[in-house]
Amino acid sequence: MDATPIDPVANPALTPMMAQYFEIKAAHPRYLLFYRMGDFYELFFQDAEIASAALGIVLTRRGKHLDQDIQMCGVPIHAANDYLNKLIKLGHRVAICEQVEDPKEAKKRGSKSVVKRDVVRLITAGTLTEDDHLDAKASNFLAALAMVRHGETDFALAWADVSTGETFTADLQAEQLGDELARINPAELLLTEATKSVLTERHLFAPSWAAIAHTAPAESFDSETATTALRQAFPRGEFDPTALSRAARAALGAIVGYIGEAQKGVGVALRAPVPQAHAAYIIIDQATRASLELHQTQRGQQRGSLRQHIDLTVTAPGSRLLAARLAAPLADAAAINARLDAVALLVNDTMLTARLRAELKTVPDLARALTRLTLDRGGPRDLAAIGKAVGAAKAVAAHFGGDDTLPPILQRLAQTLAAAPAELADQLARALDEQLPLLSRDGGFVREGYDAQLDEERALASQTRSVIASLQARLIEETDLRSLKIRHNGVLGYFVELPAAQGGKLMEEPHRNQFIHRQTLANAMRFTTTELADLQGRIARAHEAALQIETSVFAELRNAVLQQTAALREIADALAELDVTAALAHLAATRSYTRPEIDNSLAFEILDGRHPVVEDMVAAEGQSFVANDANLSGSDAVGGGRLWLVTGPNMGGKSTFLRQNALIAVLAQMGSFVPASKAHIGVVDRLFSRVGASDDIAHGRSTFMVEMVETAAILNRATRRSLVVLDEIGRGTATFDGLSIAWAAVEALHETTGCRALFATHFHELTSLAKTLSRVSNVTMKVREWEGDVVFLHEVGPGAADRSYGIQVARLAGLPEPVLQRARQVLTVLEQRSVGTASSSQKASVLDDLPLFAHQPAPRPAQKDPVHQALDAVRPDEMTPKQAIEALYELKKIRDDARRS
Ligand code: ATP
Repeated sequence: MDATPIDPVANPALTPMMAQYFEIKAAHPRYLLFYRMGDFYELFFQDAEIASAALGIVLTRRGKHLDQDIQMCGVPIHAANDYLNKLIKLGHRVAICEQVEDPKEAKKRGSKSVVKRDVVRLITAGTLTEDDHLDAKASNFLAALAMVRHGETDFALAWADVSTGETFTADLQAEQLGDELARINPAELLLTEATKSVLTERHLFAPSWAAIAHTAPAESFDSETATTALRQAFPRGEFDPTALSRAARAALGAIVGYIGEAQKGVGVALRAPVPQAHAAYIIIDQATRASLELHQTQRGQQRGSLRQHIDLTVTAPGSRLLAARLAAPLADAAAINARLDAVALLVNDTMLTARLRAELKTVPDLARALTRLTLDRGGPRDLAAIGKAVGAAKAVAAHFGGDDTLPPILQRLAQTLAAAPAELADQLARALDEQLPLLSRDGGFVREGYDAQLDEERALASQTRSVIASLQARLIEETDLRSLKIRHNGVLGYFVELPAAQGGKLMEEPHRNQFIHRQTLANAMRFTTTELADLQGRIARAHEAALQIETSVFAELRNAVLQQTAALREIADALAELDVTAALAHLAATRSYTRPEIDNSLAFEILDGRHPVVEDMVAAEGQSFVANDANLSGSDAVGGGRLWLVTGPNMGGKSTFLRQNALIAVLAQMGSFVPASKAHIGVVDRLFSRVGASDDIAHGRSTFMVEMVETAAILNRATRRSLVVLDEIGRGTATFDGLSIAWAAVEALHETTGCRALFATHFHELTSLAKTLSRVSNVTMKVREWEGDVVFLHEVGPGAADRSYGIQVARLAGLPEPVLQRARQVLTVLEQRSVGTASSSQKASVLDDLPLFAHQPAPRPAQKDPVHQALDAVRPDEMTPKQAIEALYELKKIRDDARRS
């Protein structure tokens, strides 16, 4: 993404403007330079080529450089945000270069001198703060990955959401980086070239990181300089950088340095970093997240994901917190139970929950507003948001009414909210008007009555406006020109305007001394008078004075807000947490979820479990979801948990059953009630799910390769505490290879890992393992055959399926009848010869014995008989009795005709 290589020295004949451009561009080589020219941001050279292609805007030329045309494209200032959004989403980084002096000042240095310009801000995906650029319901993390070689190689991640200030660090092993980054899902990732090549060498640099990774110079990851930078960035006493590992300090230092550079000296509004222990959460790798469709479906859509289904929060920060909890379910029974206690109280008090949710609905995004104000990028609406949020916090706290029997989490939230600084909310409410401009420099946001002097200046300005009106009336009378008007524009200020035909009169006696000509247009003439110019000055001064007062009121209010930063952040957190808790309670109450029993056993017993998303889809089609039990409970004494081998027809509901149990574990451990009538789960430390195969052609991996890489990860990493959900291992290769791999995988999970596992398969041979492996059980999805068709009951019961009903399902899918017939033939022969035990030469001879396809008479395409066709057209509801009897005669006639022909 580097832009034009520039060497101004090699080209002394540069215009001053080009010289200025090159100098600024050279300081920001990896950024697209948005160079301010009047009402446009313009891009030049390679930047212009990249931007025009990315944005679909015209690439033009402006002058020449070294005898070559200079490529140029531009975006108007008023639409710049949309264009910036597009570029950032495509992974570009943009430097915004503004005029930093008044052009009049530049003129003073000589008519040819250029206006001073400088980069005022770098815009990158990980450093956004404006609502326009951000998704209200998504966190936006900037992450840095540091590597410190100190005997052993240590890695650490630091990540921060610049828009809210949340900051975290984690010390990790190289192998854990993938899972952690999958959980954090950063918008931008910084690392050094050296770190990148070490990880690439070890095959640990995930291909998906390439789109978000930016390499940074090694100096920006220096742990020593980081210590000083961190002391400056975080308020004294809040956090001691030396308490972090060297690698974590380096990563955090890189984050702080990068944000500081992006904000160009405005400051870094981050909260004290929270170190996160990897063991505190269920470890879920990227493949599992994708296969369980936690945050998005495999097609990349929110709709149909678990998040979308369970997110009943009413605020954007609540929605972000819910997403974070879903991404990182807890691995500590006590912490999970504490969350469940809070949800349980609200489930049982639906009135209180409804009241809280109604109150929370009005709460704006306090954290993001506060950050914008801290970075001096906020406006009057941000102040109002803070006032409103604080007011709401008080009101929410009042609903708990000082009840000291609340579960500890609710107790803590209620106390934090009750301590909200009410004076600040009052002050903001008194100061701010109802309708607010986005920017403070637009003025007009301070409420009447808040500042006496401001009211005075405003009165003066509006009085003078009425003086203008009476001046216009007087001038009309004096000149006897009815069409005379006093108007205003940005260039001339106030002026007298007449249609061109009458304007000349003012240039004649007796008016020529009073009216001074300013402008002649095609159909109008414009004048001023000394009196008007004087009035104009007075209005401008009053307006200016009012704006100045408003600016200082804004600064005073901003200051008052910033004084309370710590308390406000706590309130923001508490409001989001309460929103999530109330949302989960509402979810449980409205969808019949129950509280799971969570402990440190190896239990996994689910009664009447349901798949939260499929249940809804099935209901939308007017059918009911069949709830199913699962019991994988085991103990250390018996060598671990149980493994269920799930067989059954295609479309029988195996994948749904597997996934629903994994989702129930995720929901339970994030602190939510679960879709089951009972659930007892011993805390799961790692969750693995491989459901369905897919190619990863972009990264050079075939379906089977992807499947094997994921299976390897499971077999190497699962522990006795883990929950493993495996669907269809070994389908993408030759039957015997696949069966052997699946067989060995089941043995390994049972004998070596001892995890709780669900293993779905169409290899019916595997079911014999239940005879030799003590903790393996066979279950099957029940079906009923009816008139040659298969009816799926979606019910899990003990036993093994004897067949897959693949051909019946293929028929339902609409495979042509000749193909189905032929398949039945092949199947019959194969079954008779019991290919399962045949060698490949035997198999070949079996196939040789089959009647050749070409010899089969192709069945005639099925034609609907005429009686049926006629019946289809009959609408009994719309018929009179007479028409009905006529239709009956007609049907008989059609039948008789058909018989005759
Ligand atoms: P295959 O072996 O072909 O992959 P499968 O056995 O994994 O199939 P699923 O994909 O789980 O089958 O389910 C197929 C469809 O059956 C689902 O899309 C859903 O509509 C329906 N279904 C699954 N489970 C249930 C259930 N418990 N109750 C009602 N409908 C269900």
